[in-house]
Amino acid sequence: MSDHERLDTDCVIVGGGPAGLMLGLLLARRGVRVVVLEQHGDFLRDFRGDTIHPSTQQVLHEVGLLERFLALPHAEMPQVSMRFSGERLVVADFTRLPTVRKAIAFMPQWDFLDLLADAGRELPGFEVRMRTAGTALLREGARISGVRAEGPDGPVEIRARLTVLADGRDSALRADAGLEPVGRPSAIDVLWFRLPRAAGEQVPFMQIGDGALLSIDRGDFFQAAHIVRRGAWTGDDASFAALRRRVSALEPRFAERVERLRSDDVRVLRVRIDRLERWHRDGLLAIGDAAHAMSPAGGVGINLAIQDAVAAANALAPRLASARPTEALLRRIQRRREPAAMVTQALQRRLETVLVRVAEPGSVVPVPLPLRVVQRLPALRHAMGRFIGLGLRPEHVADARPKPGRRTRTR
Ligand SMILES: Cc1cc2nc3c(=O)[nH]c(=O)nc-3n(C[C@H](O)[C@H](O)[C@H](O)COP(=O)(O)OP(=O)(O)OC[C@H]3O[C@@H](n4cnc5c(N)ncnc54)[C@H](O)[C@@H]3O)c2cc1C
Repeated sequence: MSDHERLDTDCVIVGGGPAGLMLGLLLARRGVRVVVLEQHGDFLRDFRGDTIHPSTQQVLHEVGLLERFLALPHAEMPQVSMRFSGERLVVADFTRLPTVRKAIAFMPQWDFLDLLADAGRELPGFEVRMRTAGTALLREGARISGVRAEGPDGPVEIRARLTVLADGRDSALRADAGLEPVGRPSAIDVLWFRLPRAAGEQVPFMQIGDGALLSIDRGDFFQAAHIVRRGAWTGDDASFAALRRRVSALEPRFAERVERLRSDDVRVLRVRIDRLERWHRDGLLAIGDAAHAMSPAGGVGINLAIQDAVAAANALAPRLASARPTEALLRRIQRRREPAAMVTQALQRRLETVLVRVAEPGSVVPVPLPLRVVQRLPALRHAMGRFIGLGLRPEHVADARPKPGRRTRTR
């Protein structure tokens, strides 16, 4: 064991997704020493969403990063519109939100995460270790005292006053902490693939008819998502034929492009909606999808992960630089964020009952009554915009001014 690298820090965060990087950045701004571990070598992964909501942009504004964010390539959506069984519907409107930005920004998540990581690296107390996977929790008696990880140069042990699990919906360390998620698997899977895009080409963001198709403009390609019944995709000829037929019917301009897809081009994303009943242990806190895995429905998971990070940083920063957080403090963070996560998940499940019907081949689902009502009443479109754009409990950065930092110590 003596060849282990050993570090002492205030907070070790497992997972460099939106929750982990934002928490690390906010804590480091408040003078807390933070080490973020990310198992991958970069953030170039396709399987997560691209939606940066007005409330997240507000947080970026509060920490002085909004201009840097807006300078990166992105698309903007002031209203959520869709084509549903041939009708164009506007289901949410962000234009009257009380935020500096009144539109969802679409930005590949790797650009957003790079921005957070780069901003963190400018602070002395922040360290992000790429290609470093948390493998086991460390304990002192009953208290969790850090994490053991495997990095490019071998094993490393990081001792910390607090260990944060921000390692997403497949978190393996939750079980090590004795935290088991509850919930049932989602009834849908998402097929995720790229289709080439001609310069300036526009297609509706969301189309629902015989199936559902989401097309995110990423410059020279569309990132497309197509919903199928759980387990329906096997990758065989019949699966491909169904995918080609349904996507071509939804968006005839894609017919030729979808013909050229090969099995390696299509990834199956298993959707889960679950949550921990308890987000904490002595010395440990779970946030983001590790605490409450969100489905893509409504595109709000990143936003909730960021809001968790802001609430956690606000509560933890005053204490972490000098003392261990008490369990009562960790419990308060869960109590603050849990209702928003639970209500959002309940709504995602309701939305899923529509999506399951849409996923059924040959289905023609009529426009659901609530969507019809939203069309008639602009006030409801703004209310939906508020729910999607801000979430149920928008969080604000408590102290946006950076403090002089301390560095993580190597033993
Ligand atoms: C198909 C699909 C589409 C989605 N689309 C959207 C959308 O458009 N908009 C939206 O807001 N939400 C969307 N979501 C939900 C959203 O992706 C999540 O809610 C959000 O990413 C949660 O952020 P997080 O930081 O908690 O976890 P994650 O984003 O999952 O990040 C966890 C990080 O931890 C790392 N990690 C895991 N284990 C370890 C380990 N042991 N050691 C070190 N690192 C580790 C992972 O590599 C990852 O980088 C979608 C979800 C799915 C399934």
